[in-house]
Amino acid sequence: MERQRVGLFGSTGSIGSSTLDVLARHPERFSVEVLAAHSRVEPLFEQIKRFRPATVGLVDGDRRAALEERLTSLPSSQRPTVVTGQAAVDELAGTANLDIVVAAVVGTAGLRSTWNALAAGKRVLLANKESLVAAGELMLDVARQGGATLLPIDSEHNAIFQCLPAEQAALVGRAGVVEENRDIERLVLTASGGPFRDRPLDDFAAISPEEACAHPNWSMGRKISVDSATMMNKGLEVIEAARLFGVCAERIEVLVHPESVIHSMVRFVDGSVIAELGEPDMRTPIAHALAWPDRIDSGVAPLDFGALAGLHFEAPDPERFPALRLAFEALAAGGSMPLVLNAANEVAVESFLDGRIGFMAIPAAIEAAMAHFAETGGPPLPSSIDAVLDADRAVRDWTATWCSSSPDRVAG
Ligand code: NAD
Ligand code: MG
Repeated sequence: MERQRVGLFGSTGSIGSSTLDVLARHPERFSVEVLAAHSRVEPLFEQIKRFRPATVGLVDGDRRAALEERLTSLPSSQRPTVVTGQAAVDELAGTANLDIVVAAVVGTAGLRSTWNALAAGKRVLLANKESLVAAGELMLDVARQGGATLLPIDSEHNAIFQCLPAEQAALVGRAGVVEENRDIERLVLTASGGPFRDRPLDDFAAISPEEACAHPNWSMGRKISVDSATMMNKGLEVIEAARLFGVCAERIEVLVHPESVIHSMVRFVDGSVIAELGEPDMRTPIAHALAWPDRIDSGVAPLDFGALAGLHFEAPDPERFPALRLAFEALAAGGSMPLVLNAANEVAVESFLDGRIGFMAIPAAIEAAMAHFAETGGPPLPSSIDAVLDADRAVRDWTATWCSSSPDRVAG
């Protein structure tokens, strides 16, 4: 069997390192051709030494000299070609020498590389949910036109993919237009509820970035950790699920399940519920999507039912987690409202992480942006990737201004 050539975008992140952990277990099956990251030279260099990619992308050109200096310690046959700058690195995702692209960049910054990979017909393992929320149907169109295979590695979507009948899963993988499927009653997205499920609501204003980033079950990057704490992560995932599986908002249910053992479920019309279970470890969905339709070892420990104290479920608390309601509203409004939601969230989360606004100002900023853009009728529904990025920029600018004058901004 010929080795599959993998390009990993966002290699130094949490999903990036989980992906490399799985790839390292299967050198006969996969080769790492491209590693790409934003600016962290040290971990990137360690990855280069271990995986010997032919090409490395480093978005931050100011860090090029630092990387090249380290590369001189390698024999010349092991030194990769180094590409710098956002546009050039994004281009790499569509190059001919890749079979698989792992889209693991965080935020809208990952949109263009994901797009390029889909347009070039790659097998794309999608972690970067933000690109699907912001660009919506355009992303699926380009996947179809390019003949790409789009496989979700977000754990909930990967779980649902696994619960679907095989033909239907294959259709989803081709970004096919899923007809209103009469067999499926609902998709059930599980959510851990994050670190603040039980914290008294009147104490929410005092939540610090460190507390928000300490997730009880999953170890993740800072942005998605805050998204989990506000439950905007689940909100983005509701929109991601609607797009990927072609279902409307009414057929998506969010269920808080603090143990994160059931990764999501499908309810069928006959009363059957099919779920995917396992340890909360991203290497499982990554291994699944790398090998699909085969199965390979992921390194994840088998689920020990005897050690489980129990599985618990509750409805999400709308007062605690207004972000979830906003996401359902954005999905129902359609058009570019999911893009507005996503862009406003990214700016608000950044402001929170920088200590400029309080925790509850995150949903407030998003709600204000959605109201503003609904009132002004725009931004228009983008028809190209450039238009998506322009609209994203406009919402970011507006939200940044809002955050800087927010009543909940942190003094000083
Ligand atoms: P992270 O912050 O740990 O890593 C982000 C990666 O993106 C880094 O390698 C960084 O160098 C790279 N990056 C940042 N800006 C970039 C740019 N402009 N161009 C190119 N690369 C850039 O994030 P993460 O937790 O690994 O999450 C990555 C994506 O996967 C997010 O979209 C997140 O929502 C999604 N996701 C993550 C998890 C998880 O468990 N971490 C689970 C499901 C989905
Ligand atoms: Mg998820």
